[in-house]
Amino acid sequence: MNIVLFGPPGAGKGTQSKRLVAERGWVQLATGDMLRAARAAGTELGKRVADIMDRGDLVSDEIVIALIEERLDEAAAAGGAIFDGFPRTVAQAEALDGLLEGRRAPIEKVVRLIVDQDELVARMQKRAEEEGRADDTVEAFRVRLKNYNDQTAALIPYYQAQGKLVDVDGAGSMDAVAARIAEVLDQE
Ligand code: AMP
Repeated sequence: MNIVLFGPPGAGKGTQSKRLVAERGWVQLATGDMLRAARAAGTELGKRVADIMDRGDLVSDEIVIALIEERLDEAAAAGGAIFDGFPRTVAQAEALDGLLEGRRAPIEKVVRLIVDQDELVARMQKRAEEEGRADDTVEAFRVRLKNYNDQTAALIPYYQAQGKLVDVDGAGSMDAVAARIAEVLDQE
């Protein structure tokens, strides 16, 4: 099954994606992780996106769509993909629909994790201590939230219109959120 885990930065998409990989054998396709890997490897792409990412801005649609396209065979072989942090714009969502349509494996569900803003900031601060991500600063996080509200939130009506959007309460423990997600995924 192909699903999108959707929500603002700090909502728990990465954590929950990793659990789904462990429990269901699907592949996590996280463009943020791919871009960080490109930076760590010192590739041309990594150098091109470094400043944009550290500011909290979005890299171009072309870049992330190409990264996703490269991994779709692997996802098909695994029987499913969890799209995490992608799509983030309507253009990305349209491109993804086009790519998956060609493969006859559309997105079946879009799970939207709902977490209030104070909790998002608290989680970001905790992650800053644990992982030391360059974009987990108050200033970059503010930009990321603004980009989410200005560009990514438009995907809510996009997926609602397709009848795929399911809201899940993202508050509480990792286990509690995982159980809510499992319930949604196991519903027909
Ligand atoms: P994330 O790990 O998903 O929070 O992504 C970290 C950063 O990578 C974002 O703040 C963006 O700069 C960039 N990024 C990741 N995914 C995308 C995407 N789908 N579209 C544009 N930029 C992205």
